[in-house]
Amino acid sequence: MKHKPSPNFDDRKQGNIKYLIMHYTGMASGKEAIDRLCDPDASVSAHYVVEENGDIYSLVDENNRAWHAGVSKWEDDQDINDLSIGIEIVNSGHPYPGYESVYRPFPDTQMDALIDLSSEIINRHHIKPCYILGHSDIAWRRKIDPGELFDWALLAKHKLGLWPTTINMDQNIEIDEFRFRQQLEKFGYDIGDSGEDLTNLISAFQRHFRQENIDGVIDKETLLILDALVNMKINL
Ligand SMILES: [Zn+2]
Repeated sequence: MKHKPSPNFDDRKQGNIKYLIMHYTGMASGKEAIDRLCDPDASVSAHYVVEENGDIYSLVDENNRAWHAGVSKWEDDQDINDLSIGIEIVNSGHPYPGYESVYRPFPDTQMDALIDLSSEIINRHHIKPCYILGHSDIAWRRKIDPGELFDWALLAKHKLGLWPTTINMDQNIEIDEFRFRQQLEKFGYDIGDSGEDLTNLISAFQRHFRQENIDGVIDKETLLILDALVNMKINL
């Protein structure tokens, strides 16, 4: 563990740590990302940065509130920064207008380091698997990180997050959008007002839990996976 203290933090108001939030840096290099996360003018930070070679940098003490989540919501929690540990995983991320990038898989060495770090964090703070989430889960209107190449299934094998294991695609199920919304809300997503377009939310769900097709359309597999996850969460 290397230390690179960031000035960008403040006090936790509530004190308890409930969430572990995964991000990608979305910049050309880890160094560039760390510089930004330590720049007082940028007003952003995370507790840790995990480099592609497995090096881990500690930027903000876990007792303090880092600034990684921004406007965000899960269940009834609106200040996720106050209730979470944030990890920035070095990856150039998806391109966007004005930023050229090839979103690429997260190397094994990086994932191994991330798994060790995350296991220590969840044991230290008794974080439940259902509260290990991506930035896109808690801020789906704005964010798509860590994205569909992030290996959530591998993390779940290490008790880091929920993963739907037994999906029976043979069953008949009606695609009922109203019930789908209810299930998303039950799982923790912010579904907004009843008229809001949820395409980006459904894509966010798919980037995390059904990564081979992230088209934002409610289909049978997406619905079955969501049902399985809601059951898993209830039975935790
Ligand atoms: Zn993020």
